[in-house]
Amino acid sequence: MKNKNTQFPKVLIIGGGFGGIQLAKKLKNKEVDVLMLDRHNYHTFQPLLYQVATGGLEPDSIAFPLRKVFKHQKRFNFRVADVLQILPNEKKVITDIGDYDYDYLVLATGSETNFFGQKEIEHFSMPMKTVPEALNMRSLILQNLEEALIEKDPIRKEALMTFVVVGGGPTGVETAGALAELKNHVLVSDYPELDIATMKIFLLEGSERVLEPFSEQASAKAKEFLEDLGVVVMEKTRVNHYDGDTITYNTTEKITTKGVIWSAGVKGALIPGLDEAEIVRGGRIKTTNYNKIVNYNDIFAIGDLAYMETKEFPTGHPGVAQVAIQQGKQLGDNLIRILNNEKPLDFDYFDKGSMATVGRNKAVVDLKYWKFQGFFAWLTWMFIHLLFLVGFRNKAVTLMNWIINYFSYDRGTRVIIRKFNRELMTEETVAK
Ligand SMILES: Cc1cc2nc3c(=O)[nH]c(=O)nc-3n(C[C@H](O)[C@H](O)[C@H](O)COP(=O)(O)OP(=O)(O)OC[C@H]3O[C@@H](n4cnc5c(N)ncnc54)[C@H](O)[C@@H]3O)c2cc1C
Repeated sequence: MKNKNTQFPKVLIIGGGFGGIQLAKKLKNKEVDVLMLDRHNYHTFQPLLYQVATGGLEPDSIAFPLRKVFKHQKRFNFRVADVLQILPNEKKVITDIGDYDYDYLVLATGSETNFFGQKEIEHFSMPMKTVPEALNMRSLILQNLEEALIEKDPIRKEALMTFVVVGGGPTGVETAGALAELKNHVLVSDYPELDIATMKIFLLEGSERVLEPFSEQASAKAKEFLEDLGVVVMEKTRVNHYDGDTITYNTTEKITTKGVIWSAGVKGALIPGLDEAEIVRGGRIKTTNYNKIVNYNDIFAIGDLAYMETKEFPTGHPGVAQVAIQQGKQLGDNLIRILNNEKPLDFDYFDKGSMATVGRNKAVVDLKYWKFQGFFAWLTWMFIHLLFLVGFRNKAVTLMNWIINYFSYDRGTRVIIRKFNRELMTEETVAK
């Protein structure tokens, strides 16, 4: 299948995430035909997925139609397509809706949940990388509580009211905090027949401290905030197994639970076909300092998928939105340089700092020269997230939701739209 325009070199971008969008925007009005393929017709703002999962935001506040992002961009086309294979020798990709050829291919597919090969954990726990997965989690949390209401067996009732978040990175910390807020402010009045005080939330982290990539000060404060909210934080705790009823950690210790949320790791979202590429730890593809995949001349990788060693980041860049955004922008400029027979420029990451929120008035912010926590950090966190949300409507709706939630102590979207049934999840229907 030929792309629509053939006059100019064809740049095929796989993935409309943070990196893919910035790259395509940089190519606006340039002498290239851009085709973007994504398995979803929308961009997902992953940093706020946990708010969808805990009833704080509607899913369409954090999803934005990709066609709308590029509605005024000439020589840009978009297709909803799952890319299944790359054929580098034929310069084309195979998708579920047909084949597409390219002159330059950019992989911006991000990452996917890493269960480290543990099939039972994969089957029984709840990942959170996509909007459908966040909605599954929201349904499961509410379904467990509805079931707990009518459950006679005290042990099963306790399991239904126990939630274990695995992985104490920003996602795990934010999810555990949001669950605790849901418990303390909302569920207590929603379920007067349940003794909500007996609902337990655990956060299990394998390393020495939660928020390990942050400063020690931020980690300690995040732990304190979580414990104030009633979360049981367990560091140096490695999960070995989960069978749907009992999670086993540190080899012999156990918690009985019907709700395990898995935020313990990600790996690059690889597409088969690049046999010459070097795949490193975490399933990332090794690139040169200007994002060209090593051993290929016309294929590039950006964002979470790309592994680039630099002096400042000898083991690769962190898997965060800013890296993807900055690499997308720079690759846009570099592709034009390459087309003009100019030397591409090396990528130099500008680290704007890290932040995580734990709950109402509680967040931690690590900037290069300033680390702060508490209310001002929470305001900063909200401001930055609103700034980077795609689309004016999404910004406005999210801000309005936050204001209402803040003053009413409520979370308006605790609805079970589609019942979650694990047994119906097959390879084909599982949310990607
Ligand atoms: C729950 C969560 C919370 C996070 N919180 C933060 C945060 O607070 N701050 C921060 O900086 N970062 C955060 N991150 C990380 C950040 O979201 C990623 O670093 C960023 O999304 C990477 O951008 P990307 O462009 O590489 O990929 P993505 O934004 O993941 O985009 C990849 C796109 O590729 C598409 N795709 C993948 N494979 C295929 C295929 N085979 N065919 C077609 N399309 C495909 C996907 O549908 C997706 O649209 C968080 C991530 C998660 C999961």
